[in-house]
Amino acid sequence: MSAVLEIQGLRKTYRSRRGVRRALDGFDMAVEAGQVHGFLGPNGSGKTTTLRTLLGLIKADGGRMSLLGRAVPQALPEVAGQVGAIVESPQFFGNFSARDTLSLLADAGGVPQSRVAEVLELVGLRDRAGERVKTYSLGLKQRLAVGSALLKNPRLLILDEPANGLDPGGIREMRTLMRTLAGSGMTVLLSSHILGEIQLICDSVTIISAGRRVAAGTVADVLARHATSAVRVRV
Ligand code: ATP
Repeated sequence: MSAVLEIQGLRKTYRSRRGVRRALDGFDMAVEAGQVHGFLGPNGSGKTTTLRTLLGLIKADGGRMSLLGRAVPQALPEVAGQVGAIVESPQFFGNFSARDTLSLLADAGGVPQSRVAEVLELVGLRDRAGERVKTYSLGLKQRLAVGSALLKNPRLLILDEPANGLDPGGIREMRTLMRTLAGSGMTVLLSSHILGEIQLICDSVTIISAGRRVAAGTVADVLARHATSAVRVRV
């Protein structure tokens, strides 16, 4: 498989006392190296379920997945260090600075302290690195979250709704950061339920609706070919 990330026929049904909910119904996706790939779909369409399954946090009912050419979940322990992911908003200590936060995480993850300064520079937090996180805007917190996922210098970065709640300026900053990462050879998969975010930030996109892929390709092509689908899924 040449794709950095590949999913074929993924199925997942949640069963609880409240009933049965089919979240993924034969979902397919492929992400090529060096792309900033958008994962677009309305709330409840199955994005988080896909990402959590891919990272081995929940078990699929069926289908095939690979990361960096290795089968998931079997090969996850080997590829884990090469995949950075934020699928839940990380909780940071408000009284710690960004530098302290990344420094602690670096120690915990066996990452050399020299990487902390590199990451702070990369995510544009160098000048604010000594300030307490509780004084940060949402955009700065999001950048710190991305920074924490970058400590191990992953080949693939997976982000669930990183632009959620950001104002237009924050979204543009996120775009600049994603471009910088892609320019350094990293592949990024980024989920959103907002079409405008994907248009601004991503090269290519997969659209999911009700647990199935409804379109995939470059952002421009998909929008041109599937304008009606995009409207139908109300993204
Ligand atoms: P959102 O942006 O709202 O998180 P999403 O596209 O990430 O949406 P999922 O969170 O994957 O979608 O949810 C897909 C479907 O599965 C939804 O109908 C949701 O209600 C259901 N679901 C998700 N998690 C669970 C769970 N733990 N138990 C039962 N149903 C669930």
